[in-house]
Amino acid sequence: MELFYTDADLAFRDEVRRFLKSDLPKDISATFFEYRRHSWEQMIEWHRILGRKGWVAPNWPVEHGGTGWTPMQQYIFDSEAMQAGAPRLRPFGLKMIGPVLIRFGSEEQKARFLPRILSGEDYWCQGFSEPGAGSDLASLKTRGVREGDTYVVNGQKTWTTTAQHANWMFTLVRTDPAADRPQSGISMLLIPLDSPGVTVRPIRTIDGDHHVNEVFLEDVRVPADLLVGEENKGWTYAKYLLGNERVSIANVGQSKAELALLKRLAAERSRDGVALIDDPVFGAKLADLEADFLAQEVTNLRMLSSVAPGGDVGALSSFLKLRGSEIQQRIQELAMEAAGTEAAPWQVLREGGAKDGYGTHGWLFSRAFTIFGGSSEVMKNIVAKQVLGF
Ligand SMILES: Cc1cc2nc3c(=O)[nH]c(=O)nc-3n(C[C@H](O)[C@H](O)[C@H](O)COP(=O)(O)OP(=O)(O)OC[C@H]3O[C@@H](n4cnc5c(N)ncnc54)[C@H](O)[C@@H]3O)c2cc1C
Repeated sequence: MELFYTDADLAFRDEVRRFLKSDLPKDISATFFEYRRHSWEQMIEWHRILGRKGWVAPNWPVEHGGTGWTPMQQYIFDSEAMQAGAPRLRPFGLKMIGPVLIRFGSEEQKARFLPRILSGEDYWCQGFSEPGAGSDLASLKTRGVREGDTYVVNGQKTWTTTAQHANWMFTLVRTDPAADRPQSGISMLLIPLDSPGVTVRPIRTIDGDHHVNEVFLEDVRVPADLLVGEENKGWTYAKYLLGNERVSIANVGQSKAELALLKRLAAERSRDGVALIDDPVFGAKLADLEADFLAQEVTNLRMLSSVAPGGDVGALSSFLKLRGSEIQQRIQELAMEAAGTEAAPWQVLREGGAKDGYGTHGWLFSRAFTIFGGSSEVMKNIVAKQVLGF
């Protein structure tokens, strides 16, 4: 992509590199294969540093705290930060509920929540999925019943990432069970997680970590001014939010950094006396992966250039999510192959992670990439219908 950089882009890249060199604390910068190796505290510290610099929400409109960067500048920042080993900021406030409030929230909600998302004072999680409602999200059963100036919420959410750290959850509840379509009876509510009646229970994933939770809601009283937009219009806001979530999961800047790391690893390792990168079988897999990554990089830039800050990314986001999550899994698989025995789980258990982080731990969690934010099968259905017109 360097071929496409203008002189102004190169000057911006230098400015970003200088900032990363001076402001990214050495103890939280790392070469690794996935951002999950950073602790929550390190991620928050980096969030606050970026917040103070005014660089934490590049995709927000300038009047709400965005940077006013061009799409190319946003991409340069993202890939440079990932290459420098910066923590990947969680998307729930910055890329999911923030843009929804900017577009559909009341003036009071914007004034109350946006500055605290930027500063890192509030952390959000996403309460959409339920035990019986994942791909078929519109079948969700959690009820929100209006009583005077509050909603009384009862139900269960599941797979709620980082609910153990967050203090707020944006959630979908059923407010009109008699609506003609299931989508028409859903509203979006903002729920403080310290409300009486909220219980958060951990779920351990296959990598042994605690990323996700179950959230139980029992007679939780939510003030009506925490309804986003209009009652029973939550599905519209959720679709807009999911588009942004899918672009975030596509994670192009991180894949670029990890691909560079993978090539370095393949140059250092050898098989039967031949550097892995020169091994025809391994080299062919790497070349195939890089070609697919470059196609995704261009598609990502095309999408960024066609959507103004705060705009609707639409169904292209499903395509980016589908390809991006597959590419991230393929990077993890090749990294495991290149690492050989060093990727074995005992290294992770004994040493807290293999050198450079190319261990089984990351590979195991990468299985979830093609599930969360909408599974690959569901993404293919959306692309077939809304992009290809079948
Ligand atoms: C690690 C992780 C983190 C997550 N974080 C969050 C979070 O923070 N907040 C949140 O709300 N949710 C979260 N989720 C939930 C995630 O969005 C759902 O798991 C996902 O939407 C799939 O739903 P499901 O698990 O109910 O599977 P199901 O919907 O039951 O799907 C099961 C299988 O059937 C396939 N399938 C379903 N419908 C179709 C169809 N129409 N056509 C073809 N195939 C189909 C699916 O592709 C899948 O293979 C997370 C999930 C994981 C694994």
